[in-house]
Amino acid sequence: MDFDAIVVGSGISGGWVAKELCERGLKTLMLERGRDVQHRVDYLDFAPPWELPHRGMLPEEEKAQHYAIQSTSYAFNSASSQFFVRDSEHPYSTPMDRPFKWIRGYHLGGRSITWGRQTYRMSDFDFNANRLDGHGVDWPIRYADLSPWYDRVESFAGISGSNEGLEQLPDGQFLPPMGLNCVEQAFKQKVETDHPSRRVTVARCAHLTEPKPEHIALGRGPCQLRNVCERGCGYGGYFSSLSATLPAARKTGNLTVITDAIVERLDYDHAKRRVSGVRVIDAKTKQGRSYQARVVFVCASTLGTAQILLSSRSEHFPNGLANRSDAVGRYLMDHVMGLGATGTHPGFLDRYYYGRRPAGFYLPRYVNLDGRDTGNFLRGFGFQGYSYRSSWGRGVGEPGVGAELKQRLRYPGRWEMTLIGFGEMLPRADNRVTLEEKRSDRWGIPLLHIDCTHGENERRIAERASRDAAAMLAASGYENITSNGPIRTPGEGVHEMGTARMGLDPATSVLNRYNQAHDVTNLFVTDGSCMASTGTVNPSLTYMALSARAAHHAADLLGSGEI
Ligand SMILES: Cc1cc2nc3c(=O)[nH]c(=O)nc-3n(C[C@H](O)[C@H](O)[C@H](O)COP(=O)(O)OP(=O)(O)OC[C@H]3O[C@@H](n4cnc5c(N)ncnc54)[C@H](O)[C@@H]3O)c2cc1C
Ligand code: SF4
Repeated sequence: MDFDAIVVGSGISGGWVAKELCERGLKTLMLERGRDVQHRVDYLDFAPPWELPHRGMLPEEEKAQHYAIQSTSYAFNSASSQFFVRDSEHPYSTPMDRPFKWIRGYHLGGRSITWGRQTYRMSDFDFNANRLDGHGVDWPIRYADLSPWYDRVESFAGISGSNEGLEQLPDGQFLPPMGLNCVEQAFKQKVETDHPSRRVTVARCAHLTEPKPEHIALGRGPCQLRNVCERGCGYGGYFSSLSATLPAARKTGNLTVITDAIVERLDYDHAKRRVSGVRVIDAKTKQGRSYQARVVFVCASTLGTAQILLSSRSEHFPNGLANRSDAVGRYLMDHVMGLGATGTHPGFLDRYYYGRRPAGFYLPRYVNLDGRDTGNFLRGFGFQGYSYRSSWGRGVGEPGVGAELKQRLRYPGRWEMTLIGFGEMLPRADNRVTLEEKRSDRWGIPLLHIDCTHGENERRIAERASRDAAAMLAASGYENITSNGPIRTPGEGVHEMGTARMGLDPATSVLNRYNQAHDVTNLFVTDGSCMASTGTVNPSLTYMALSARAAHHAADLLGSGEI
């Protein structure tokens, strides 16, 4: 064996697995398909707007040619485009009438560099949902199984937020919250008075408001509230693989990272029921090679992992590795987006705020919980929100010329508030990814074909969420209210999940309660593909907790000789 463990992918989940395995003393190889990225050195976070290519924007022609899908992300600009793939170089297909936006980054750190850093725990409303309404398979774990791991990952990552005592949004280990501005406080008061089952709380986000010694020891410093996070943060003010998990893993001396290493497939030894090799194509030379380890973690993101497993066909797994259940590639989900509303407030014109703030507020799920507030749909939705004086960017994206523009920039505009809904998507077998039979990429890897649509339940959630958002804004005195709809294309939530789901039954699921493949003893998958349902909250904190938990379980099994 070359290594004790191989981790495929260096994003949020792979970073966590590598850290935990290395700290358990295991010699770990991380294989990352993208290029190396040096923390601090390769970021453009200190560049002022006038030094950025095209003042932070990208020419329309270049966007259309190379970034047609990636450039639809709010985080995409000329300072962050290096952390998004070129669509022109990484094609995939969809049915003509069923588009899917696959937003991703292939480089060391994956999307942990560009993510929005909103971090919430799932609750037993989420873990029980499949069992109660019969959509999807029952989760093999409950909140109590994950709670200590949420504690662990929150403490290490550094999550700012406030405890609220809500069953649907469990409390956690938080650094001091960032705070609500004056109109958000007024909104909170009004919403909570009108609707006792609704709560407006400050966003929980992976920013160091007050670093602890373990953060400082990794070279991380307090968040400076600059709002350029998608470029990468030289202060290490937010959690990413590059600022946190990989430095911790490197400190142990047990980590080897190989970049530009595209994992093409996993070899399977049927006699031992184990992965026997990880086959890699060098992204630059296109040369093939293979690595061996006692345990293999695939953390290539939901769609990347599905691609690897489906490509790993063998005599015993003709439909893809660990795919006896035929669930690999199926049950693809994303949070439903295009929900919510935006409005302007005529008042508070004598009030402002100091500096910037990389997160706003959160209004957690309140429908279909305890029978008090029900909807004509299953599951629910939550809102992220924020408010600002409308020319808060002072010239950023502000159209106009001459005296009139100067006058407008001199004074901040009205207060604006937006509520962005995230709705739950049900797991459905026909929302799936498959491999193209005839078309492959420049490395000879079959293209993914993604076929995913929203159903009636998602449409009903979107309709109710947008209606509620508009009503809450109106009741709080907002005007000019517009809907954030229509419902967006699947993928735009950038919360893809479900293509190798966990479950109790090997006949209907791919992974057991520790993210270990039912059928391949030394194979673990801990990215979003393991999710049996989406819940309503942003999922990455749950991937972190599952990854840490699975890594320790694998280390225990290796220690006892069981794998
Ligand atoms: C703009 C934006 C905002 C977001 N905001 C939030 C948020 O606020 N909260 C939240 O919870 N989530 C958010 N997300 C989603 C979050 O980024 C993902 O859920 C998370 O990064 C997934 O982690 P991962 O490890 O599964 O995948 P990734 O972070 O995508 O990492 C996967 C890694 O695997 C590598 N890889 C892929 N295929 C292969 C292969 N064949 N061989 C080797 N390596 C491979 C990739 O290059 C990549 O480095 C956001 C995403 C974006 C883009
Ligand atoms: S807001 Fe904080 S985390 Fe984001 S780039 Fe600025 S200092 Fe870094």
